Amino acid sequence: MAVSQPSRSRDLDKLLLRPGHLVGPNFEPGPELRDDIKEYVKVLVVGAGGLGCELLKDLALTGFKYLDVIDMDRIEVTNLNRQFLFRLEDVGKPKAEVAAKRVMERVNGVNITPHFCRIEDKPLDFYSDFSIIVLGLDSVEARSYINAVACGFLEYDSEDNPREETVKPMVDGGTEGFKGHARIIVPGTTPCFECTIWLFPPQVKFPLCTLAETPRTAAHCIEYAHLIKWNEVHGSRSFDPDNPEDMQWVYSEAVKRAELFGIPGVTYSFTQGVVKNIIPAIASTNAIISAACALETLKIVSGCSKTLSNYLTYNGVEGLHTKVTEFVRDKDCLVCGPGVLIELDKSVTLKKFIDQLEDHPRLLLSRVSVTHRGKNLYMQAPPVLEEMTRSNLDLPLFELMGGVAKDVIHVNGMAGKGDKKQSCLRKLRVVFRGVDGIADIDMAGGA
Ligand SMILES: [Zn+2]
Repeated sequence: MAVSQPSRSRDLDKLLLRPGHLVGPNFEPGPELRDDIKEYVKVLVVGAGGLGCELLKDLALTGFKYLDVIDMDRIEVTNLNRQFLFRLEDVGKPKAEVAAKRVMERVNGVNITPHFCRIEDKPLDFYSDFSIIVLGLDSVEARSYINAVACGFLEYDSEDNPREETVKPMVDGGTEGFKGHARIIVPGTTPCFECTIWLFPPQVKFPLCTLAETPRTAAHCIEYAHLIKWNEVHGSRSFDPDNPEDMQWVYSEAVKRAELFGIPGVTYSFTQGVVKNIIPAIASTNAIISAACALETLKIVSGCSKTLSNYLTYNGVEGLHTKVTEFVRDKDCLVCGPGVLIELDKSVTLKKFIDQLEDHPRLLLSRVSVTHRGKNLYMQAPPVLEEMTRSNLDLPLFELMGGVAKDVIHVNGMAGKGDKKQSCLRKLRVVFRGVDGIADIDMAGGA
C-alpha cells in the first residue's frame, strides 16, 4: 500500500493544480485546494447498498479523506453478487459498518465513520456538519426526507437570493436494472427533489380489465393469479409473498392462465419478481452511476469543472443512451423555496399555531413538532421529549422565539389528507404583526 501512495493524487493533481477553460467560476487551482479538500471537506454517503458500496470506494479513491456512511440494513446473502464490499462471513452484520471497514482496509489514509441507524434517527445537526451529501438510495421516501433536511438549512437574503453559507449541495444517484440517473441538487439554484417529484410517478398497476379479459404478457397472467384469482379462491386470507406455498399457488395458476391464452414466459422466478415487484439490480449500472456521482461531487466541492446541469439519465436496456436534462426549479416549492409565510399576532400560543398549520391550505400538517434555531419548542415524540416540551404549548410563540419580529422555524409532521398522509419537514417564515413597524412592509423575501 505504502509504495503506491506518492502517485495516488497524480491524476487528481492534473485537475486541481492547473487552470483551464472548463473550470467553474470560483476555481482557484493549487496544492492548497487539494489539501483543503482532504482536510476540511466532509462527505456523507446515504445508503451502503449496491450504489453506496460503489460510492464509498469511488469517493475514497477520488481523494476525499473524511467520509461518513449511514444505512439501517444488515447484509443479506442476496446482496453479495453486487455489493462487492461484503463477504459471506459478513451476512447479518450492518452494511454501513462492514462497508466502512473494507474501504479503509484498502484505501490508505481515508477515515470512514459508519452510522447503523435510520436516517430519521439522526438530529438535523448531524446533517448540517457535512459539506456535501451523496445519495445512494432506492426509496423515494428516503430521498424526500434527506432533500427536506438539506433544503431546510437554506436561507434566503432580502433579495430572495440563497445565502451561500446555508447551501447544502446534494448529489443523487439511482439505478433500476439497466437504467439509472445521476443528478445534482444545489438548493435554491437547481430544482430540489420535491420540485421534480413527478419524475417518480406512483407505481402503475395493470388495469384490472386487462388482467381479467385481455392478458397479453406473462406479467398480466401472473398479476391475474395474484390479484384476482387469489381472492376468488382464498377469500379473506391475504396473499403472503414470503410464503413459498402461496407463491407456488400463484405460479401454477399463472401457468394455467398463460396456457389458455398461449402466452409464453411464466416462470417461478419471474412470478416472484412480478409479485414482489423485484427489479434486478445490475452491478455495472451501479458502477456507471456511482462514477458520475463521485465526479460531480468532486466538481461541486473543488470547482475544477462545470457541473452537470442538472439531471443525467442512463439507459442500457436497448443499446446505450445517455441524456442530460436541465430541469427548472419550482418557484413555489414548499421544500427549497423561502418557506410559507405565516403572519401571527404576538399573543398566539404555540398550541394555536400548531392548530393553524392543520387548516393551512398549502400545508395541511398534523401531528406537528416545532423547532426554532435547533431548539425544540414542541416534540410529538419520543414521550420524554413530549413531556419536556408540553408546557410550551400554552406560551406565546413570540416569546418562545425570543421576541424577534420574524424568523424561520422548522416543523415536522404528517402532510396531506385522509390515507395519503406522509411525514415531512417544512420550513416556515413566521412574522409577528406590530413588532417594530415590521407589519406593513412587504415580507415576500424576508428570511
Ligand atoms: Zn424544491
